[in-house]
Amino acid sequence: MTEVLDRLAKPRASRKRTPTAENSKGLKAIAALAQNYSYAQIQAEAAAGKSVIWGGFSWESPLIYACDTIPVCIDQLWLDKSRESEAIAEDHFQIPGEFCSMIKTVIGRLHTDQGNNIKRILHFGSGCEPIHAVFELSKRDGYDVQTIETVSSFTNEEKRPAAIKILVSELQRIAVWLSGKPVDENRVAEEIRRKNSLLRKVHKLFELRGKHPLYISGLQTLLIFMGSMHGYGDLEAFGKAVDSLIAELEALEVKPLDSAYIPLVVAGGVGNRRLLEAIEESNGAIVSWVIGGDLLYDENLPPLESLAHYVLDAQGRGDLGEMVGASVAYRRLRVEDEVRRTGARGIISSSIIGCPYASLMQQLERDYFKAHSVPLLALETDVHKEPPTEEQIMRVKAFIEMLA
Ligand code: SF4
Repeated sequence: MTEVLDRLAKPRASRKRTPTAENSKGLKAIAALAQNYSYAQIQAEAAAGKSVIWGGFSWESPLIYACDTIPVCIDQLWLDKSRESEAIAEDHFQIPGEFCSMIKTVIGRLHTDQGNNIKRILHFGSGCEPIHAVFELSKRDGYDVQTIETVSSFTNEEKRPAAIKILVSELQRIAVWLSGKPVDENRVAEEIRRKNSLLRKVHKLFELRGKHPLYISGLQTLLIFMGSMHGYGDLEAFGKAVDSLIAELEALEVKPLDSAYIPLVVAGGVGNRRLLEAIEESNGAIVSWVIGGDLLYDENLPPLESLAHYVLDAQGRGDLGEMVGASVAYRRLRVEDEVRRTGARGIISSSIIGCPYASLMQQLERDYFKAHSVPLLALETDVHKEPPTEEQIMRVKAFIEMLA
């Protein structure tokens, strides 16, 4: 370790670095979509009479779109005013300061913006328990909250017909809540095909990104992950941007990664731009990133059953994070697969400070990869935009230097 700190104290000669594609049309289009997808713009759509809900942007999104409703990711509740929202959570709702910043910003923002135009919230009961409590509290502020019944499956054997039946009936109920009429299954099937088509493109893009890990920066990769869930409100435009990026990557010559770079697998969001930059400045090359799911919906099943199978399979694989519960126990297995597949030399695992699930997940990962002699750096971040501490940045740089 002393040797590593000595090396960090004396900056080494800068290595040849391939810049990310500054003139990439695909990356510019994705950045523009992400920039326009703002709290204000979403509120304006709701004010103009569109049906918009908080939540419903994950595994269940084909049903929501089939009910002519726009699902909004709850990250919009902390992308701005996060400190003010957190203060409300701590002062008004008495949530302990050390608890998860996502939870605090969500309840704080829903409370301060009670007059916002989106008054309906959809939640899946198998997800994080604290967020469930937060949405229950929000009912006092006039929100209409619907919770899809808790159904979990940790293994394929647990994916019983009864569990599928419960979820199908819950999805039928949600369709009536959204549109006032029974679900149109043909529309859901159409939306499933639309989402699968986007997911296939995103899979292809990430396959190509693995061959050219320096072309798309960490931050840009994060934007693509987010877009793969909700397309920034415009799945077609997002799909076209992904097509354009695929074409750019296909035109590049595939070369082995320069030995100056340290191949890494990242697990979790690492939401902070400065930490991602620190990885890149230290010549870390993110060759794979375990964050969302990579399953496709089964188009051969009746559409509501297809959604139910999708979420239960995702739980058993460790996909989709806290949004579907159960995943906590499994993320490490997906990370291990990626380390083996890519030959990565280390893992950067991130979690949100104060999240009981993530701290358990990271401890499982620490123990597991220590036993398998794979170096792992565990980072804890929050949802705020302030830069990370110098200590956090130094930990990232020291970790990568140690692997060099
Ligand atoms: S980070 Fe953890 S506690 Fe916070 S919302 Fe997500 S799962 Fe819940």
